[in-house]
Amino acid sequence: MKRFSIFILLIIFGVSLTSCLSSRKLANKENPDIRNVIFMIGDGMGIPDVYAAMTVSDKPLNIERCNIIGLQKTFSADNYITDSGAAGTALATGTKTKNGAIGMDSQGNGLKSILEIAEDHGLATGLVSTSSITHATPASFIAHQSSRGSYDDIAMDFLKTDIDVFIGGGIDHFAKRKDKLNLLDSLKFRGYEVDTSLTMVLKSTSLKLAGLTAPVHNPYRLKGRGDMLPASSGKAIEILKKNSKGFFLMIEGSQIDWAGHANAADTLVDETLDFDKAVGVALDFAKKDGHTLVVITADHETGGVTITGGSRETHKVILNFSAKGHTAVMVPVYAYGPGAEKFFGIYDNTDIFRKILTSFGFDNLK
Ligand code: MG
Ligand code: ZN
Repeated sequence: MKRFSIFILLIIFGVSLTSCLSSRKLANKENPDIRNVIFMIGDGMGIPDVYAAMTVSDKPLNIERCNIIGLQKTFSADNYITDSGAAGTALATGTKTKNGAIGMDSQGNGLKSILEIAEDHGLATGLVSTSSITHATPASFIAHQSSRGSYDDIAMDFLKTDIDVFIGGGIDHFAKRKDKLNLLDSLKFRGYEVDTSLTMVLKSTSLKLAGLTAPVHNPYRLKGRGDMLPASSGKAIEILKKNSKGFFLMIEGSQIDWAGHANAADTLVDETLDFDKAVGVALDFAKKDGHTLVVITADHETGGVTITGGSRETHKVILNFSAKGHTAVMVPVYAYGPGAEKFFGIYDNTDIFRKILTSFGFDNLK
């Protein structure tokens, strides 16, 4: 009798152990090593921009630490040459849309972003940009508007989500609005620490942080932005990593694009170097953490940049611009960490969303 009950107990133990193991397997279906994804976008950053920064720098760039490289096609649903709204939406939601749209398809239907899906799965989420946080690229991950210029409405969309941390410019879109509402008060009411300077942001220990460091956009680094991007990236990671389920963070070097539009070579190289400094912050964390995938890309190329001269000895480059706007060329994708190998090859911008989705093991749009 005694032996029989031990036998039964062993069977029960065996069954529960097997079901426990299989449920653990289910929770991490695709890649059990990945807990966090840091997705970095250099707006307008083509390969020549990266090589110009490599030439000017006297040490290797952080981006060179990535050993998996891919190329992505950036065309939008209605144009061979994309804008940052359609490109951001493609990266964030996996659907190509018409130029100017934010988190919506060409018919005007809202699309769920990878940030929102991560939220649904209980992960912490964050956005960091040097431009206004309501600008096209970060907006694509959180807002749903048919026009990228609807900054007040995009700011309002932040309040419809459960994002944990956002740091960028854009105080005016939250506090100096046409409808006279003060969304900074609404954010405080919802438990966010609202900081309106970088100094305040960097001192924050809050789990929910709205860091708005400029009335609209932060200036170029050469015009006084300082270490805003790498420092804010570090702060966002420090807060988000406290969620044991993991996090999704998008970091944008917004103004590489603007230097491209302005055909301003020195600024373009400096903004790329600044973005690379933020890449260093992400890669240092990923290396230490071991469960973080870092994916770095651009939304499109800007300026038709090429390098027509320079010297590896004197660290000088001569850039030539063939456009004042965006171009159609493929842009590079760099990946580091567990699951990085998925990003090898040539694919559409929309595939990046699916690759991140499956890296997290999210196989359904819950
Ligand atoms: Mg942008
Ligand atoms: Zn642009």
